[in-house]
Amino acid sequence: MKRLELHACPVRDCRGKRQRWEAVCGTCWPLLPFDKRKAILDARKARARHLEASASIDAVAWLNEHRPADLAAKIMGERDAGAAEPP
Ligand SMILES: [Zn+2]
Repeated sequence: MKRLELHACPVRDCRGKRQRWEAVCGTCWPLLPFDKRKAILDARKARARHLEASASIDAVAWLNEHRPADLAAKIMGERDAGAAEPP
């Protein structure tokens, strides 16, 4: 049996590892909008490799535009701002 090879996650500034068949790592995956994840899963289910590839590229491009670190900072910032507000 072939050993499972891990690949670097293609998302910028992400140090995660992914399986060959995964578009992004397990950290980035849940950050994707539902429709982007669905596009990848639907294409995979239909065995439409070209559609899965283009959906994966689209998903990575989205993540690069909406950097996970920025999203996290925004969420934390909003939380902090909310906490700082008087009741
Ligand atoms: Zn990642």
